[in-house]
Amino acid sequence: MLEQLVRDSQALDRAIAGEELSYKDGIDLMNYDNLHLLGAVADATRKKLVGDTVTFAASYYMNYTNVCAASCQMCAFYRKDGADDAYTLTLEEIEQRVGIAKQMGATEVHIVGGFHPKLPLEYYEDMMKIIKTKHPQLNIKALTAAEIFYLSKLTKNSTKEILSRLKDAGLDSMPGGGAELFHPEIRNKIIRGKCSGQEWLDVIEEAHTMGIKSNVTMLYGHIEKPEHVIDHLIKIRELQKKTHGFLTLIPLKFSLDNTELERDHLVNNECSSVYDLKIIEISRLMLANVLNNISVYWVAYGKKLAQVALSNGGNDLVGTAFSEEIYRAAGKPTTSSIEELATMVKEIGRVPAQRNTHFKILKQF
Ligand code: SF4
Repeated sequence: MLEQLVRDSQALDRAIAGEELSYKDGIDLMNYDNLHLLGAVADATRKKLVGDTVTFAASYYMNYTNVCAASCQMCAFYRKDGADDAYTLTLEEIEQRVGIAKQMGATEVHIVGGFHPKLPLEYYEDMMKIIKTKHPQLNIKALTAAEIFYLSKLTKNSTKEILSRLKDAGLDSMPGGGAELFHPEIRNKIIRGKCSGQEWLDVIEEAHTMGIKSNVTMLYGHIEKPEHVIDHLIKIRELQKKTHGFLTLIPLKFSLDNTELERDHLVNNECSSVYDLKIIEISRLMLANVLNNISVYWVAYGKKLAQVALSNGGNDLVGTAFSEEIYRAAGKPTTSSIEELATMVKEIGRVPAQRNTHFKILKQF
């Protein structure tokens, strides 16, 4: 059926044939305006790869500190050390919060923060040891590659040494944050004081090589052009071919409120829902041969658009966020129960399933 329809885009023809899409194909699709057809091909590709199941994890999101030595133009979350609303959780507070999350049914803790200039490596090691000792079954998904890179500079240890010590302390997997967009042309305009795209990729490759799997994100909807999106996806694809260490891609819609990009009028509006869908669709098609999972971050989309995104290439909802300070800083709703997510999925005629960090199905609804 699709084969009969697609005649005006060689890139779409190649996607239907299951071929790897080139950089040029990606650019062509970014400029392709038949969103219905693009969505239909992305959805058919999703169905072929992972069927009709839509997964989600019971995650507890914890931001251990909002103090950050960097000052990224796209960030509404960071505070300088000593600011009135700066905070850093004590190990006791972390233990208490994780205990509550476990009682609520969390199977993983997603831990990220700012680049704290004073916290020693032992703080992170102790955090993981405490969680692992009390809750050995909880997957500790902690610290982005950007945080690992910063810790390496701060403590004058190699990134490999940091990863190894944290793994010994209980680190199981890593979130995908800090990837933003790898291309230096755009990266240098949206972040300040964070590692380069190549440094991010190098750290995550080291983690994958050590058996620490990770997610990867892509921050879009600010000042990027199609070539930056496609460059990002191809870099993910190339590394994935090498390590098979990425579990899912999470496209992150830029949330402009309270950011420097908004204050400086470099971005005045959030991107359209049409662009959101195009990003999900093209992510699905560019990564089709190497990565099965494209996550829909409902926290940024809202539930209704998230349902549409699941019908245009997405197969995973991120997540059951019991807490999520970063998006809250930019004024977004952040919590949902497992049952609400299951209902969202049933409403679009798909099969809801709770998964663990590694996409193993734990329960079907
Ligand atoms: S995005 Fe991360 S590194 Fe950049 S200012 Fe915000 S918390 Fe710091």
